[in-house]
Amino acid sequence: MVKTGFSREEKDRYSRNLMLPGVGEAGQERLRSGRVTVVGAGGIGSAALFYLAAAGVGRLTIVDGDTVELSNLQRQILHRMTDLGRAKVDSAKDALIALNPHCQVEIRKVRLDAANISEVLEDGGLVLDASDNFPTRFLIADYCWLNRITLVSAAVAEFTGQLLVVDPEQGSPCYRCLLPEPPEDRPRGILGSVAGVLGCLQATEAVKLLLGWGSDLVQALLTYDALKCRFHVMPRARAAECPLCGENPKITGLSAWAGGCAPL
Ligand SMILES: [Zn+2]
Repeated sequence: MVKTGFSREEKDRYSRNLMLPGVGEAGQERLRSGRVTVVGAGGIGSAALFYLAAAGVGRLTIVDGDTVELSNLQRQILHRMTDLGRAKVDSAKDALIALNPHCQVEIRKVRLDAANISEVLEDGGLVLDASDNFPTRFLIADYCWLNRITLVSAAVAEFTGQLLVVDPEQGSPCYRCLLPEPPEDRPRGILGSVAGVLGCLQATEAVKLLLGWGSDLVQALLTYDALKCRFHVMPRARAAECPLCGENPKITGLSAWAGGCAPL
């Protein structure tokens, strides 16, 4: 049976949402019936998941195969000292339920690969990529594009971050229009609060999408430079030679990912 109406406790909890222009109970109901999958319970995912749970998004799925390490605590604010050695998905779920027990939190303790991505992301609703490496980011981008799933992709390095939305139904340029193939990953520092900024922005775009308001980032890229304290929003364009969404796409399925490496 579909739940309707909100309890007194929920009305109190969400009162600052309910007062927002254009939200009200109808908007809150959209959030409650919303479903979001977040890949990565690290620095970006911590902030995104906290705000999505706090906002009252009804169903959250967390995908992460790692365990909590001491070096994570500099930026991954879902996790505590007492969580060291635990699976990040378990630690994250406990933190989110402690914040908002109304959220249904599902966990998948796996590292995404070509063999499991269909099963993990199937029926997961909106996908938020908060992963920390290029192969995973490209795999998610390819999968979501091929399956017409809306993707909010956030990434950080050192003092900078970027955010974009790909909605295949809105004629978005795909991720590979921006970056045709994965660059080499190398370990880099990350200012923890920069990951938090990007996670907050990612959650904000997700909430707008769940409310049906859309996102200007379906056709644009947002970048953040913390050292200069500057945000830039620049238009993204469809690339005719794009290997995924171009005129003669080379990537038409995930079979090229079977060896674990990114195609091309
Ligand atoms: Zn493309």
